[in-house]
Amino acid sequence: MLEVKNLSCGYGREKVVKDVSFTLPERGRLAVLGPNGCGKTTLLRGMTGFLPAEGAVTLDGADLLKMSPRERGRAVAELPQASAAWFAYTVMETVLMGRYAHLKPGLFSAPTRADREIAEDAIRRLGLWEERDRPLTRLSGGQLQRVLLARAFAQTPRVILLDEPTNHLDLKYQVELVRELKGWCAQPGHAALGVFHDLDLALNFADLVLLMEGGGAVYFGPADALPPQELSRVFGLDVPAYMRRSRARWERIGG
Ligand code: ADP
Repeated sequence: MLEVKNLSCGYGREKVVKDVSFTLPERGRLAVLGPNGCGKTTLLRGMTGFLPAEGAVTLDGADLLKMSPRERGRAVAELPQASAAWFAYTVMETVLMGRYAHLKPGLFSAPTRADREIAEDAIRRLGLWEERDRPLTRLSGGQLQRVLLARAFAQTPRVILLDEPTNHLDLKYQVELVRELKGWCAQPGHAALGVFHDLDLALNFADLVLLMEGGGAVYFGPADALPPQELSRVFGLDVPAYMRRSRARWERIGG
């Protein structure tokens, strides 16, 4: 469904992402992993046309990089990190912004009844109905992240891109967010790609992994077949051994 072919991009003349290729099938959930500074966020920026890029990014054959921002907005939504709200838009106003790419172009175009219904559905789906008229500045971090996910759902995209969406969230909200996303991805015509910091959470979310090092892809394939030696080498740590030790502690704590 989504195909990235030989993508290279960076800042100025410096190429940060180098010749990365992968495919994301319908209902696919891809985690982009790699150490700090290896180019994960830059890859997302190249895929969305935020940075000039070489190579190709296509969605069912349509060239994402050549689309207008509105066209792209109907195909791809982004779920950013929710650290804090800066603007006092209400929950409803924020989720309705997800419909922007679907409005008729023009100065006076307004959301239709159908747009409102889609936004309301997304708000209900994420359990935010009681908060719909509350300003974002009065929400908790967990609620704010759910509002941003509702906005992404209301955008009715094919693909959702996530950049470390759970960074500021308590474990409970991380788990909830991943569950909601997996539910969304299970629907026909949908897929998601996320940059994750937390390897545990990444494996919870993903069925596919793209492992990056120094701007290039060193592994792309099923999450279950991720080569442990490569993972450990790239992160400079025996990751599976670390995870096992951590798990052993939890076993001792019991519950
Ligand atoms: P990651 O998401 O894997 O931590 P990034 O994609 O953010 O990595 O960064 C990759 C490289 O690009 C880093 O060396 C970083 O310093 C550089 N970089 C990131 N953003 C910018 C920018 N706006 N201008 C110049 N260099 C940048």
